[in-house]
Amino acid sequence: MIKGIGASSGIAIGKAFVLPDWEWDVPDKKIDVADLAREFERLYEGIRSSKREIEQIKGELAEVVGSEERSIFDAHLAILNDPIFMNEIQGIIRRQYKAAEAAVKEAIDHFVAMFDLLDDEYMKERALDIKDVGNRLLKHLLGMPEVSLPTDAQPFILVAREVSPSQLVHLNPQHVLGIVTITGSMTSHAAIMARALGLPLVTGLDVPLESLAETGDLLIIDGDEGLVIPRPTEEQIRIYTELQRRQTEHRSRLRRLADVRSVTPDGKEIALEANISSLKELEVALQSGAAGVGLFRTEFLYMDRHQFPGEEEQFDVYKAVAEKLGGRPLIIRTLDIGGDKHLDYFEIGEEANPFLGYRAIRICLDRPDLFKTQLRAILRASAFGKVKIMYPLISSVEEVRAANRILAEAKRELEAEGLPFDPNVPCGIMIELPSAVTIADLLAEEVDFFSIGTNDLIQFVLAVDRMNERISNLYQPYHPAVLRMLRMTVDAAKRRGIHVGVCGEMAGDPRALPIWLGLDVDSISMSSHSILPIKERLLHTHRSDSIDLLNRLWECRTQEEALRLLDAFRLTVEARMKADGAAAPESAGNDARAGNEPDARVPGAGPGAPNAARPAGTAGAS
Ligand code: PEP
Ligand code: MG
Repeated sequence: MIKGIGASSGIAIGKAFVLPDWEWDVPDKKIDVADLAREFERLYEGIRSSKREIEQIKGELAEVVGSEERSIFDAHLAILNDPIFMNEIQGIIRRQYKAAEAAVKEAIDHFVAMFDLLDDEYMKERALDIKDVGNRLLKHLLGMPEVSLPTDAQPFILVAREVSPSQLVHLNPQHVLGIVTITGSMTSHAAIMARALGLPLVTGLDVPLESLAETGDLLIIDGDEGLVIPRPTEEQIRIYTELQRRQTEHRSRLRRLADVRSVTPDGKEIALEANISSLKELEVALQSGAAGVGLFRTEFLYMDRHQFPGEEEQFDVYKAVAEKLGGRPLIIRTLDIGGDKHLDYFEIGEEANPFLGYRAIRICLDRPDLFKTQLRAILRASAFGKVKIMYPLISSVEEVRAANRILAEAKRELEAEGLPFDPNVPCGIMIELPSAVTIADLLAEEVDFFSIGTNDLIQFVLAVDRMNERISNLYQPYHPAVLRMLRMTVDAAKRRGIHVGVCGEMAGDPRALPIWLGLDVDSISMSSHSILPIKERLLHTHRSDSIDLLNRLWECRTQEEALRLLDAFRLTVEARMKADGAAAPESAGNDARAGNEPDARVPGAGPGAPNAARPAGTAGAS
């Protein structure tokens, strides 16, 4: 059994198809001076063919995935139009008299090596894009055929060192059961596409490809737990087939709960909302019976492009989401870039501590032009649904007031222009910094609602980088300091009578459910895939029991003590569910998975939990 990263959930059992590395053998061919013009023409023809092919892929994709996934290929077109990339290739041909393909190969190697050196996941992913585009260009220059996947054989599990979005495009989900790649991450474009296609994906494996599997070998992959089992035993096949059957059965049973009210047996109703980052993700949210969108991470609209999206473009998206929600609430979070979320076209510069640096509301207040464009677009969308505005990373009353001044200006402008909007659009903040928690009583006087962003709150309360694997044991959602912060925030909101919700990954962790019920929060917003499993639990969890649990939880001195209580509570709820004929298969299934320890670091990663936490900056994974 090999442990990697579970980047797209689900179980697959089947034969491996090992994809050969998509790299061409390129001879280091020289040309004569007299052939320079011809060589340039070959290069331009290769570029034209590559562009035509990419446009064709985009067209084919339109029927399969959303605009977010298709935009990957806009990024590929952009590379082919990039003067830096082109100058490098032309320079090699002109100065070194190399054939076009040799020059392209040298340029790709140069850029990939440069990006790979950077200690930044996002840039490493861009290296993969360059390689993908470069390989396509080489294919045309060398007149090579596409590396094709079997289409007539039994459905297979694709195994590769890495897969590019281009390769995934050609996958017919009917022929592919799942994917395993040696390199990759939750944030890779391939992972985004695998999730969009609903294919289980395990990546980030610390083994050579050759030792993992050969074409035809039987494999089991578990995209929830990030496990690969090469050449499984009869017993493992039996266990995972059973687990897969229960998952499928459970999913269809859960779908029946989509329209059921989310209320505890003793009458506490809590809105179960979805976190989304694109219009396309709204489909899954609605199918899961989301009561609304508690967090629209708008920064993803700003990514994979060359300039800031304008007001009209943003308005179209916000309006479409608001309309599709048909009266259900939509919380649109204003731009939250910086930290680990970069825009290619917006230079933030080198920062020693990017998570503490120029980011989120700080950028928006420094660049009112950008901020106002977004606010105008959101305000205009408020005429078409129940829109609310939310500012991220608030640390002071001054920031709220400064943001509100720009909002007021945007409203005045729209009024003068005669454009419709909701003049009373509710405006709230994310509570994700310890400073915000400690002045939550003061902030509650300035805003209409709070939404607790536990991902950042845990990171900042405990001073533990949420992206740093080395100290992941210190990232403790149930640390007494975090629990106290949650209580302080909800108390402050309740005293002022404003709405309080939770939108970090903890919201989708079944262990945390009694905390929200006991504290009496109004809404919890999570990955769409978590909504129905959480609703099922909610229907079997009493608020009165949750209050009793909280009284004991506040006494805990360590996360370990807190987890003991929460796990015992969870098991009691599961026993009740089982008695009522609604047992969650994940818990039964996890018993079957050998050597599977609960991971206290990742909300939702323990037994009975949905998929692991979304690393920040991941489109569509939250
Ligand atoms: C959070 O910090 O909890 C949150 C929801 O925002 P993000 O994960 O986008 O930083
Ligand atoms: Mg945050």
